[in-house]
Amino acid sequence: MRQQIVAGNWKMNKTLDEGIELTKSILETVEKPRGLVVIAPPFTHLRDVGKMIKVRKHFHLAAQNCHHEQKGAYTGEVSADMIASCGAEFVIIGHSERRQYFKEKNDVLAQKVNVALAKGLRPIFCCGEPLHIREVDTHVGYVAKQLKASLFHLHEEDFRKVVIAYEPIWAIGTGRTASSDQAQEMHHAIRVLVAKKYGKIVANDTTILYGGSCNAQNASELFAQPDVDGGLIGGASLKAEDFATIIAALK
Ligand code: PEP
Repeated sequence: MRQQIVAGNWKMNKTLDEGIELTKSILETVEKPRGLVVIAPPFTHLRDVGKMIKVRKHFHLAAQNCHHEQKGAYTGEVSADMIASCGAEFVIIGHSERRQYFKEKNDVLAQKVNVALAKGLRPIFCCGEPLHIREVDTHVGYVAKQLKASLFHLHEEDFRKVVIAYEPIWAIGTGRTASSDQAQEMHHAIRVLVAKKYGKIVANDTTILYGGSCNAQNASELFAQPDVDGGLIGGASLKAEDFATIIAALK
């Protein structure tokens, strides 16, 4: 089912105590959200943050990544099973920072999607183009390739559990946001790609979030676009007031 979602990706920020404080402030500041609120703290905070939010309707927990194998000798890694056992329902997969700094390629991301789904987690699958691709106007083809390589092998039942996050790399953490027209154009293009693969009903049911310098000032305009179903928020999710304003911007 298509859902309105605001997800906060804390990245590698906040100690455990700071994360607990931030969660407290978010819970105090956000009143009845119109959609789902997903919080993605670091792995080390999952259980504590999860316990705090599970008493609140509409709040859900996510991890920021998972390993592509189920278990084994992968020192320092965290499995989908472990994440689920801490209470998470979602996992972010394919964030551009993972692709860039940890060299995660489309095939490994497909494995992550599979293992997450097998363990009952809903992937928040990130896609998006770098600036040089946008500049030569091949962004739709670039994103299509990411989706085909990492998601479109799924059967419809599993695909329906996936949330797509369109995050143009040139807009992430840069303060440079895609315009609402640029976001709408790409979200619509993604929906058309999904329709070609899974049919119109599935496409219409697919949740597609925008990410990339979305903040308290621009969220309403972005979320007002017909194919934008909310946002994946980095920097602005670290301030309870800003995050609450963004959540209030949901349709
Ligand atoms: C992100 O990390 O997914 C993101 C969108 O970051 P920011 O909002 O800081 O651009």
